[in-house]
Amino acid sequence: MTMATPLKSSLDLAPTQLLIDNEWVDSLSGKTFDTLNPATEEPICAIAEAGAADVDRAVSAAREAFELGEWAEMSPRRRGELLFALADLVEQHRDELARLETLDNGKPLSQSLSADLPLTVQCYRYYAGWADKIQGRTLPVDRPYFSYTRHEPIGVVGQIIPWNFPLLMQAWKLAPALAAGNTVVLKPASNTPLTALRVGELIVEAGFPAGVVNIVPGLGSVAGMAIASHPDIDKVAFTGSTKVGHSILAAAASSNLKRVTLELGGKNPNIVFADADMDAALAGAHFGLFFNQGQCCTAGSRLFVQDSIYDEFVDRSVERARNRIVGDPFDPETEQGPQVSQAQMDRVMHDIESGMREGARLLCGGNRIGDRGFFVEPTVFADVRDEMTIARKEIFGPVMSIIKFKDIDEVIRRANQTIYGLAAAVWTRDISKAHAIAHAIKAGTVWVNCYDVFDAAAPFGGFKQSGIGRELGEYALQEYTEVKAVTVKL
Ligand code: NAP
Ligand code: MG
Repeated sequence: MTMATPLKSSLDLAPTQLLIDNEWVDSLSGKTFDTLNPATEEPICAIAEAGAADVDRAVSAAREAFELGEWAEMSPRRRGELLFALADLVEQHRDELARLETLDNGKPLSQSLSADLPLTVQCYRYYAGWADKIQGRTLPVDRPYFSYTRHEPIGVVGQIIPWNFPLLMQAWKLAPALAAGNTVVLKPASNTPLTALRVGELIVEAGFPAGVVNIVPGLGSVAGMAIASHPDIDKVAFTGSTKVGHSILAAAASSNLKRVTLELGGKNPNIVFADADMDAALAGAHFGLFFNQGQCCTAGSRLFVQDSIYDEFVDRSVERARNRIVGDPFDPETEQGPQVSQAQMDRVMHDIESGMREGARLLCGGNRIGDRGFFVEPTVFADVRDEMTIARKEIFGPVMSIIKFKDIDEVIRRANQTIYGLAAAVWTRDISKAHAIAHAIKAGTVWVNCYDVFDAAAPFGGFKQSGIGRELGEYALQEYTEVKAVTVKL
């Protein structure tokens, strides 16, 4: 596979140091780590690697900004104006940011431009609008008292984000936190620090005061853990694996009982009934699984198809997967780029082997493509049974598992047989069946006759071990505010 050389100019613009107190600084240890281009395996550049002492510096800056000075005294309306300015700057730099995202993450440029960038801008703008609408209530208490509530910012918030949607996950975290008046210490994923740092520059340019947003790339086990266990961080918000989510919650519990929101894995049922619009369901199942190289917490990785249409659905899904265009993420024709890293590719290959070993029927794919870049063939397994590893584990790769079911009660029971509860979808022309599924599935999001439809106004998060709390929408504001009741004797 030959790769087009990405525009050098985007890279020349990107900062590579830590952002602390609106200054770009090296880490105290002087350590750096390389971020790679997953399409070529070549290092892109070295990034300053934050250690615990750098996190301490960032927390001090965030604490000072929260307690005193410009941000502490700023009106909510002015906070909203700053977020609108940031949304405008991200929009103005959309081409450059999309290129940087594709370079660092491997996702097709066409998708960075059509999905990641517009959703990121929408999110900043949506919460900009909320900043001056976060309000308490008056309460019907007995006389002679008057009581009201205030929704106050929590304080210093630590935010740890993953590599699958770096710009968008940064927006989901920063926008509601800042709208509500918190200050932030954010750690991007080690695989994809570049766009988070470039947005850091835009945050400074937009006019956010020093210390409000601090960005500290570094290892999860070091900088990430320093955030989760920090005694002067009031809340931690994390998106990533369920395993690390357990560690974050434990660290929060054993340090200072900081508030915790977690957005973790999923093993999401995508249920296709025989009465569905077959073409729409096929397209939705393909997109719902393969989008973003399968690296979505919402991936429809348990594709339940009703028995009477099963064989046809499998054949047509295989045909669509075989025709999927994998290659250079900067080529406009490309539908699928590389997995983000060697480690992720190795995990996916290991899971594919388990599918073959445990007796699932491999109908296409199953191999790495070439020996340069972390490319994996679009892979489809049929005759997958609930107890197989590929039907239980979050694969996070381009691996479709098609499972047969007979009737609605059976599919509801089986769909809910998982430790996860992030998302689900149902394809049917029967409105009663659609709502029955939507109500019965234990998941934070249910899509009916569509998949992966995201909007800043719609809350997102998990039941069970898919997480704690909600991002997006008005609901996310609750996760970034403390409620205070004030009572006055009249
Ligand atoms: P991960 O380890 O959970 O990483 C997510 C973020 O947490 C990264 O910023 C990571 O830093 C940081 N982190 C890692 N260990 C930490 C720790 N002990 N304390 C605090 N922060 C820590 O996820 P991954 O290894 O990148 O991916 C593994 C699996 O996680 C995937 O296969 C997938 O199943 C799941 N995942 C889910 C999502 C999602 O959107 N829900 C996103 C990504 C991955 P480093 O980058 O330095 O490791
Ligand atoms: Mg990278």
